[in-house]
Amino acid sequence: MHMKEENRIDVKINILDLLKNIVNKEEQYTIPIFIPHRGCPNECVFCNQRKISGMQKNVTVKEVDNIISKYLEYFDGNKKIQIAFFGGSFTGIDINSQIEYLKIANKYIKSGKVDSIRISTRPDYISPTILKVLKKYNVRNIELGVQSMDNEVLRLSKRGHDNISVIRASLLIRYYGFKLGHQMMIGLPGSNEIKEIETIKSLLKLKPDELRIYPVYVINPSELYDMYALGKYVPLTLEEAISRTYVVLRECKRSNVRIIRIGLQSTDEITSNNLGLVGPVCDNFAEYVMAKVVCNVIEENIKNKLKEDMINEIIIHVPLRYASIVVGPKKVNKEYLINKYKKYNLKIKLKGEE
Ligand code: SF4
Repeated sequence: MHMKEENRIDVKINILDLLKNIVNKEEQYTIPIFIPHRGCPNECVFCNQRKISGMQKNVTVKEVDNIISKYLEYFDGNKKIQIAFFGGSFTGIDINSQIEYLKIANKYIKSGKVDSIRISTRPDYISPTILKVLKKYNVRNIELGVQSMDNEVLRLSKRGHDNISVIRASLLIRYYGFKLGHQMMIGLPGSNEIKEIETIKSLLKLKPDELRIYPVYVINPSELYDMYALGKYVPLTLEEAISRTYVVLRECKRSNVRIIRIGLQSTDEITSNNLGLVGPVCDNFAEYVMAKVVCNVIEENIKNKLKEDMINEIIIHVPLRYASIVVGPKKVNKEYLINKYKKYNLKIKLKGEE
């Protein structure tokens, strides 16, 4: 039986607009180079660098060169290519080593095979002197491991810097003309949803170009793992982590920040080497968060219209290519929506591109 149109809610969502901040990973190629921070003097509770530093060896310049040329063999010439020095804190390692690594990367920039260089570091390892070196060697993106803007959370996480360091470093990075990135963690010791909302609001005021959001994983060995074993730290459940990341993401909608990563993947350094991970570990964490973004907008649309009429049918119209994000991983959205709006006969209709 065909329902009358006036008794039907048609929901059409502009998915592209909804996810405008979330960057399509396929935009450029990245050559990741993991530089461990051996002898890092800091003691961040969630980090395993100190506990495993005896097992890590320095990456030689030759190895960096090899990694880059290996990656380049696999890339076609269609996208921009970036070399990314990840790991501990790039600007915390000895300055001569920094320069040696950067010189190798610059060889590829000069030959035109690579377009840009990215490094990640701590807010208290940024100074005008360091920035001048990074500028000289064509670094384009600097990512700061901020983690939180709440001083109590930073203290409990033993980060060894406060929120003023983040403000100072961010302003300097922007002043020297770099692209600024922030990394933020969800579920640190002493943190909660309100502190995370405050954190993202403070960060957005610093106008970062990019943002990464990670739920806290408990790595074994780490001090956080010891805290967890003693019952002094309770990791977030997957549902809590998704919901708290979603709330942070919602704040970003009003800004132009590009979300370059949500959650870790099994191929990441931390997850691939750690079998004993505890916490909201999930390979497709980002998909769950994005599905939640979409689901909430659908519900807002429905809620407003349900008040108006004698509704007996709801149809969610979805362009085919966004089907998976609307339906959600393991069909979470589909099952939730169909179940919740059972009495309105809710349907998700997939269709060709509009
Ligand atoms: S997170 Fe970075 S700064 Fe903190 S202990 Fe680990 S390597 Fe050092």
